[in-house]
Amino acid sequence: MIQNYITYLKYLNNKLNNFFESQRPYIFCKKGCAKCCKNAQFPYSFLEFQYLMTGYLKLDKSIRDIISDRVDNIKLEKEKFTGDLFRYDCPFLINDECSIYEYRGIVCRTFGLMENAKDNVIKAPFCCYQGLNYSNVMENNDISEEKVQNLNPEVEPLAFNINHDILTNTDFERGFNIKFGEKKPLIDWLEGK
Ligand code: SF4
Ligand code: SF4
Repeated sequence: MIQNYITYLKYLNNKLNNFFESQRPYIFCKKGCAKCCKNAQFPYSFLEFQYLMTGYLKLDKSIRDIISDRVDNIKLEKEKFTGDLFRYDCPFLINDECSIYEYRGIVCRTFGLMENAKDNVIKAPFCCYQGLNYSNVMENNDISEEKVQNLNPEVEPLAFNINHDILTNTDFERGFNIKFGEKKPLIDWLEGK
């Protein structure tokens, strides 16, 4: 199953690389920018979590210990939390770099692109509102035709079907002979470990 999932990830990476490449005029991602790894929920399926853990187990013990301490701290924060959506910084982020990059989940791979959300609503990544991806063409939560024209790019800003539920749907399961299984926030999986 993991081997089939790796095949799926190769397919997905290829697709996403093309998306990112096509959106180059609007993308400001760079090494060391890790805002998308912080203050979020990080939905993971069981299969993604299993694969992530294979990467975790390959890390040096000293790094694993740091991550494990962080998970414990996040659990404590979660216990005290009384709101609806508990958000946290990903415990695998070390010095603003992903410690298990090759093994990261699907949501980690799609973040930064504009999403074609439900009812054809386009959803910019949150970093757009922090002066990053798509911020050069966005105005009042929508694409500004004027800004696009001023930029005169070779490609228009596009939104993609990159929702986690879509990329883990039954069509992909059948196509790659995989089962994603239950989906929940990464910290909920880690709580079980
Ligand atoms: S998606 Fe946004 S927050 Fe994440 S690395 Fe790219 S620019 Fe930074
Ligand atoms: S697994 Fe890696 S890429 Fe994904 S949120 Fe955590 S640090 Fe960021």
